[in-house]
Amino acid sequence: MDHFNLRDGELFAEDVPLARIAAEVGTPVYVYSTATFQRHARVFREGVAAAGKSNLAFAIKANPNLGVLRVLANEGFGADVVSGGELHRALAAGMPAEKILFSGVGKTREELALGLDMGIGQFNLELEEEGVVLAELAAARGLRAPAVLRVNPDVDAGTHAKISTGKAENKFGLPIDQARAIFDRLAPLPGIDLRGVALHIGSQLKSLAPLEAAFTRVGELIAELREAGHRITHVDLGGGLGVPYRDDENPPSPADYGAMVARVTRDWGVELMFEPGRVIAANAGVLLTKVLWVKPGVTNPWVIVDAAMNDLARVALYDAWHDVAAVRPTGARMVANVAGPVCESTDVFAKAREMDAVASDDLIVLRSAGAYGATMASTYNSRALVPEVLVSGDRYAVVAKRIAAETIMDAEQVPDWLE
Ligand SMILES: *Cc1c(COP(=O)(O)O)cnc(C)c1O
Repeated sequence: MDHFNLRDGELFAEDVPLARIAAEVGTPVYVYSTATFQRHARVFREGVAAAGKSNLAFAIKANPNLGVLRVLANEGFGADVVSGGELHRALAAGMPAEKILFSGVGKTREELALGLDMGIGQFNLELEEEGVVLAELAAARGLRAPAVLRVNPDVDAGTHAKISTGKAENKFGLPIDQARAIFDRLAPLPGIDLRGVALHIGSQLKSLAPLEAAFTRVGELIAELREAGHRITHVDLGGGLGVPYRDDENPPSPADYGAMVARVTRDWGVELMFEPGRVIAANAGVLLTKVLWVKPGVTNPWVIVDAAMNDLARVALYDAWHDVAAVRPTGARMVANVAGPVCESTDVFAKAREMDAVASDDLIVLRSAGAYGATMASTYNSRALVPEVLVSGDRYAVVAKRIAAETIMDAEQVPDWLE
């Protein structure tokens, strides 16, 4: 459920007409709903409450906007970060350092040191050597770094290949059958408090079965590690829960997920951590864009909009589906392709789509664009960097300004030997 609804025939974000935002901020623009973020955060928290005391860390990469992070910090969320830049954002948004987890397959020594100096809550290690370096850096500071090993359970998440992370051939995590030997070598190091394991098998999961299979393998690993004398107090179950991008999609709810987690982890005796991203953010945002032209096509007309793949990359990257809706629907329908102005054949948001009939200058939204949307934006084709707006009730604020193509050009220079 979200807060983007028709009122008197016109699409609103909470109590703000989207047409007003388009007129005042311009298009394309991402529009987020505070109430939707809050609702998703609460539904997730209540869903996993069945599994006992838990720590919720929003996967910042899904939507790193400072305004959005502040909303989630106020809901008691910490952060799962994958870079020093994300770590700075989490802290700037007011997330306490101890609620920040550091994931990622390529953390630099500088990033590990930054995490230690900021006192973050946990490092999710991807390889043995990273643990050795972290232990050295921590020992040199008189610290013991809280850490877990990210294991790769080798399950097929049943999602798009480009967002699958838990198969043996993926770059993420340690082979689960090597975890015990690596634990034996890392746990005794004085600079590290190796306290558990983490996993994350992929994103936009539409079934609980692969998650349950992976968690069950982790349960067996915990028993094996304890038998070998290791103290296991924390398990990070990652993120990955899918969302409905279209009406006929029915992914498991946070409540179904929480009930499964409670059942599988009942005897683990650990503190659980969760890293939801998409399930919190996707349906809390839309990409608002204006129709530039309706160009006749061979089979269907092309609705050319002022947003493009540089603003929202998901369709070009993962063949993703985003619902298309007119801001002022007339009731008439059309079958059309929706595309942006970028000079790539893959800059197409929808093909042969049955949608609201639109004409030049009409506004439309691409729904479910709150996760992996603005954060992946680029300036390809020397386009501006897309702005972001956060709505709350009848108020809105520009929470990320549009960065003009000229401003981006200002960072470039022709070397003087060419003058
Ligand atoms: C991307 C990612 C997440 C979030 O995944 P969602 O599918 O958005 O919930 C969580 N943990 C890790 C380690 C990730 O890389």
